[in-house]
Amino acid sequence: MSNLTRDPTDSWLEVTTPRIPWARPMLGSNEEERVLEALRSGWISGGPCVDLFEERMAELLDAPHAIAVSNGTTALYLALSGLGIGRGDEVIVPAYGFIAAANMVLAVGATPLYADVQADTWLIEPEEIRRLWSPRTKAVIPLHLYGNVAGMDDLCCLAEERGVPVLEDAAEATFSRYRGRSAGTLGSIGTFSFHATKTITTGEGGMVVARDPETAARMRVLRDHGMRKDRRYWHDVVGFNFRLTNYQAAMGCAQLDQLSKIVGERQRIKAAYERGLSQIPGVVMQSFREPVEPVLWTMAVRLLPREETAAELRARRDLVMASMLRAGIETRPGFYALSLLPAFDCPDLPVSSLVSAGVICLPTFVGLADEDIASITNLLVEALEEAP
Ligand SMILES: *Cc1c(COP(=O)(O)O)cnc(C)c1O
Repeated sequence: MSNLTRDPTDSWLEVTTPRIPWARPMLGSNEEERVLEALRSGWISGGPCVDLFEERMAELLDAPHAIAVSNGTTALYLALSGLGIGRGDEVIVPAYGFIAAANMVLAVGATPLYADVQADTWLIEPEEIRRLWSPRTKAVIPLHLYGNVAGMDDLCCLAEERGVPVLEDAAEATFSRYRGRSAGTLGSIGTFSFHATKTITTGEGGMVVARDPETAARMRVLRDHGMRKDRRYWHDVVGFNFRLTNYQAAMGCAQLDQLSKIVGERQRIKAAYERGLSQIPGVVMQSFREPVEPVLWTMAVRLLPREETAAELRARRDLVMASMLRAGIETRPGFYALSLLPAFDCPDLPVSSLVSAGVICLPTFVGLADEDIASITNLLVEALEEAP
């Protein structure tokens, strides 16, 4: 099972197959049947399941327009292109989080500006947005980390004052809510990922949701080679092929059939972890602000530095993870702060560096038993005691 959840490029402490993997997709007979049906229909590239998947996502998220794409990264590229962002433009992204947003800002030829995150929520810091803002700033990308949702009231206010769109990277917060509304639908555009480890999966896949019908129409054309719907092989604009296949969409629909189970399980897992983790000295959980109802992507804890530099904290964190892996528990480290990655021109921002060095993501998947969660929590305590 774990070969489904592990990227071939991920050599992180590849020791043995862990007793409890960090993630595991929930696939059953419904997925099998629906994918087979799609294959037998003969529609293997585009097809009716793609339309259905888009319709169902739009309805579940309460989004006016949903556009299925090949993955969460092309979703970001399409969103930026749909907003007309390119050379000479600046886009504010968090200095801590998965790399795709910064990568895609660079891919469209724009310049990312890096905002530090808050110490408790690990989300983009609004004060930082004010600090970075310039007349060239053309979008803000909050990244809804690990299922949390950034403070969209403040962000949208700020962006609206300046007439700039908010593009939510909701890849880790599919079906999380903020003031009762779905993450990804609070700004101008939202993007989602259906990678194997994500809340719902199509293997590889993604979605863009947009409020403005013209932006949505532009993105539909860009997704399909920039080709006109009513005139075959006529290209008004330079486009891409970012389409999702019909059988992947069929898997997506099958996952949506189980949505209440998926959401309920992730809420149960969060509560079970909180019971055990809240008492451990030197360890904090991610904070969720009052308007957020998270659908956790992964339970994450942060080791607090004890008279340590970020590098020393990272070394101790890695020992804790190695010791848990020896006990059969697979975990994932926090993302590298972008300041640590040579390809990105990101200054050292203090909170991002400490969060990056201290975060451990704990196993989170549908079916993870309460007893397993208790044993993971106990092993974390032991590993923390062992680490010097
Ligand atoms: C997973 C992820 C992506 C990329 O999605 P892919 O489908 O793997 O391309 C983008 N942003 C965030 C925050 C993610 O976690």
